[in-house]
Amino acid sequence: MKPDTSKRIVPRDPSTGEELGRLPVFSPEEIRKAVAIAREVQKTWRETQIRERIALVRNAMHLIAESADKLHRQLVRETGKPVTEALLGEIGNGLLVMDYYVRHGERILQPKRLRSAKFLWTTTHWETYSPVGVAGVISPWNFPFYLTLCPTIPALIAGNCVINKPSEFTPLTALHIKEILDQAGFPEGVFQVVTGYGAAGAALIDAGVNMVSFTGSVATGRKVAEACGRRLIPCNLELGGKDAALVLEDADLERAANGVVWGALCHSGQICASIERVYVVEPVAERFSEMVVERVRKLVQGPTLDPDTEIGAINNEQQLRKIEDQVAEALKGGARAETGGKWNGAFPEGHFFEPTVLVGVKDDDRVMAEETFGPVIPIRVVKDENEAVKLANRGPYGLCASVWTRNEERALRLVSQLEAGNIFVNDHITPTGNPAAPWGGIKDSGVGRAKGEHGLLGCVHIRHVSVERLNLKSSPMWYPYTPAKASFFLQGLSAFWGRTLRTRLKALLALLPRIPELFRLL
Ligand code: NAD
Repeated sequence: MKPDTSKRIVPRDPSTGEELGRLPVFSPEEIRKAVAIAREVQKTWRETQIRERIALVRNAMHLIAESADKLHRQLVRETGKPVTEALLGEIGNGLLVMDYYVRHGERILQPKRLRSAKFLWTTTHWETYSPVGVAGVISPWNFPFYLTLCPTIPALIAGNCVINKPSEFTPLTALHIKEILDQAGFPEGVFQVVTGYGAAGAALIDAGVNMVSFTGSVATGRKVAEACGRRLIPCNLELGGKDAALVLEDADLERAANGVVWGALCHSGQICASIERVYVVEPVAERFSEMVVERVRKLVQGPTLDPDTEIGAINNEQQLRKIEDQVAEALKGGARAETGGKWNGAFPEGHFFEPTVLVGVKDDDRVMAEETFGPVIPIRVVKDENEAVKLANRGPYGLCASVWTRNEERALRLVSQLEAGNIFVNDHITPTGNPAAPWGGIKDSGVGRAKGEHGLLGCVHIRHVSVERLNLKSSPMWYPYTPAKASFFLQGLSAFWGRTLRTRLKALLALLPRIPELFRLL
């Protein structure tokens, strides 16, 4: 039965269809109220010491580790991902991000003394950071914990209040995060959750937030960017991908096969950074494909709470249909499923799609050109590395790519040719766990960067503060303008930027005796 989309949201366990709760759909008016509360609370929150804010995050970090047992079950039930992925991909990665900002947040937000420019040496210059106010965090369903914490923690540490609009498919995790933050001691109103469908996300942007961190599809990302553009507020957009893996003839084929299978099928391929296209060079194509198929056939698809399960469920019906359509279309067009290729009927109540390996795919098949977000590995044989790079750069996405080779020099040469925001050599997805590394896409895959220093600096106004030290009655640049000043500055330009040392010295020698004259003009 479909939930009543006008009144409430009803998250369900994707592996059983069981209803997990009923939550309100916040009205625009209620969302405006939440923003007004946050704005009021932020006046006090921003005045707290950064150390106090970091201490609260540290406390939350411990609470999460202590409640990981309950939390990971909830995540498994709401998302349909296997236990190990909930523990590491969601909770482990979330804690790594918190730990990074606990350790480095204060340093990153320390005012930085800037070099003085020529002409301006009597003034000291600082780059300083101040909170933007109220941040709207709009989250997707595939990583409801990790991808809510990623933008939320730096925003809070910077002194902002946060209002989260979780995905309608996974709102319970957001409420769990709120519970933990409340318990950790965050003041009431500093972190709020407003539940609802896409319209609630749109209402949040229009309700007066000062910035938006959005993670989701390209199509919604465009709407979010337009809405933020109308309000002239900054937005960070982490969007979809169609990652390519390039397997070269000098790769360690065993590592490549293991890595590609995991990188494509982890969370049933419902990761923005999933491998969705494999380009393997001719000499090793047959062997590599066999190795991939052999490994995929052994994977255990089953009840998500069972720790042996390796392939879980597709989060929602809409997503399941999209995967089915893309695979069916490729098969109709001549591709062959070496394994999988259809909905898994062993779980009639759940959304399980068999882990699938497709060969003989065409570059224009949707499964090769559009984001699939499913447990599908399409393998395309290429002549050489040049063809692999050319095809990998095809299309609008630019999130991640990986190169599999034993030759690091060769890999780094290809890295510079690949159009993606994150490029991995002999790995895929795993390196994104480094919280110090900037995360984001190029082309349609996103705007801005999350995590690391950039993630925190994206939550603040970066300001320039200058303090004049000499404090004369006037400044050479101020009024009055006189012919004497103009000729002085003319010589000054030559003294600073003349092409040759001779020109510069000549101008400087002419200038030096005139310095007292300049001071008399002040
Ligand atoms: P989605 O775009 O459908 O929804 C994301 C969020 O936006 C949800 O909370 C939704 O309710 C909200 N929303 C919908 N319409 C809105 C609007 N008009 N204004 C404001 N908010 C609105 O995405 P999804 O299906 O939840 O997530 C899957 C997508 O997210 C995939 O494309 C995936 O690649 C992408 N993703 C990207 C990253 C990344 O870091 N680059 C990470 C995870 C997921």
